[in-house]
Amino acid sequence: MEERSTDVAILGGGPAGLGVHYYAHQKGVDSLLIEATGQLGGNCRTESFDDFRCDTGAHRLHDKDGKTTGLFKELLGPDLQSVSAPSQIYVDGTFTDFPLSPLNLWKTMGTLSFFRACFQVLKNSLWRNSDAGDFESLAVGHYGRIVAERFLINYSEKLWGDSAHNLSVEIAGSRLKGLDLKTFILEALQGKKKKVEHLDGTFYYPRHGIGMLFDALVEAVPTSSLLLESPVTEIQHEDFVITEVISDGRCVTRPEWVVSTLPMTTLLRCLQPAPPAVVMEALKRIRFRDVLVFVFALSKPSVNDNASMYFPDKKFRFTRIYEPRNRSKAMAPDGQTSLAVEVPCQNLKDWSNEAVRDVRVEVQGQLVDIGFFVESEVLTCHVMRLRNAYPILDNQYKEYTERAFEYVRQFRNLHVTGRNGLVEYSHIHDHMKNARKLVDGFVPSSVPC
Ligand SMILES: Cc1cc2nc3c(=O)[nH]c(=O)nc-3n(C[C@H](O)[C@H](O)[C@H](O)COP(=O)(O)OP(=O)(O)OC[C@H]3O[C@@H](n4cnc5c(N)ncnc54)[C@H](O)[C@@H]3O)c2cc1C
Repeated sequence: MEERSTDVAILGGGPAGLGVHYYAHQKGVDSLLIEATGQLGGNCRTESFDDFRCDTGAHRLHDKDGKTTGLFKELLGPDLQSVSAPSQIYVDGTFTDFPLSPLNLWKTMGTLSFFRACFQVLKNSLWRNSDAGDFESLAVGHYGRIVAERFLINYSEKLWGDSAHNLSVEIAGSRLKGLDLKTFILEALQGKKKKVEHLDGTFYYPRHGIGMLFDALVEAVPTSSLLLESPVTEIQHEDFVITEVISDGRCVTRPEWVVSTLPMTTLLRCLQPAPPAVVMEALKRIRFRDVLVFVFALSKPSVNDNASMYFPDKKFRFTRIYEPRNRSKAMAPDGQTSLAVEVPCQNLKDWSNEAVRDVRVEVQGQLVDIGFFVESEVLTCHVMRLRNAYPILDNQYKEYTERAFEYVRQFRNLHVTGRNGLVEYSHIHDHMKNARKLVDGFVPSSVPC
């Protein structure tokens, strides 16, 4: 590998890195993107197998940032489609609409439980301590224990791999928006059906999968500015200025500026000289959750209409299932469909193929029991391993990440962004917005802008 000259080295080719690279290129900034694997798009890709396509998890573009939506509309044209599809939660063998609707809750919970739940919610709304210190208190405070446990606590514990009282209130993100039981009890009484603001429901989705968004960004930059299969293994610095980016012992570049989208833990471990012991100690407490995605290709035209289905019950390892065809018909061949199943897990890099196969067999059996398909309809199962899918936001994560950020902020030519770089529960529109902001304020001395 030859040493490359560049003004800005962007570490990591996921949505965050590609966003920065795209906007930098638009601004005439000379940048080089360095990616560990042979693929761009990070945890936001579309894979093809046989005649099927499937994303790395149930992705959609939320219309939360006008400029991001506008950019992708311009780049993709009619290939960016607006999709409206329902989502549901599966509890006790029954599907309930998601976001929760009063009528459905009533039907699934039965009259007695429903009114007990309503009573808890109204009581909590009168005496709620507004300063919930953890996710469990937040969920119980908002919805009462019955609803919180049934729909939120178990689900979150499976997803994040920690107990709800040890999880930060921030894992709620926008998930709880519009799930205010008090609001919909009042709505039910008033007979009004107010539109619920929530991440599920209506969204944008590219015809051939979420990866199209990032393929479009890649097409807009010169191929020579993309360095694939080059894991950053070392970052040399002096007096808080990064001097060299190294991959497997060889200097890749000596840039003026570095934008890192690597997980904060990877960035800190790469720095040479190494950060002080107190920072290295803190990084042991910054954790990420992995996800296994099993995609069952099926010889049947459809399973149901849902965009996503959520499974809080702990007897299922999986948290969410989606049918790619319900986002775009082009995701499966005519007359066939597929189901993608997300199984959150830890330390996926240490999982053997046998361990993955055992989980696949268990999951397949449960899907058959639920009634999604029969064994003979399974054509094949495609497996995707997503590393560092979610930063685990536990009650202490802020304290430890702040210790890491305090150190990183001292570097004069380093910017950090991305989901795992900033250790936050962020989405495509957040990365694109951050990328714009970063590039806008980014005028390295030697860069003609
Ligand atoms: C199951 C699931 C569903 C999701 N659904 C949605 C959704 O519906 N809508 C939405 O907006 N967002 C969604 N997200 C979130 C979205 O996928 C992430 O926010 C996004 O992928 C984060 O982008 P990133 O660039 O920060 O990190 P990543 O996507 O993790 O990319 C990081 C990149 O850095 C590379 N890298 C790592 N180490 C090195 C190294 N040492 N050297 C060089 N390169 C390295 C990796 O290979 C990777 O390509 C979802 C995420 C998951 C897991």
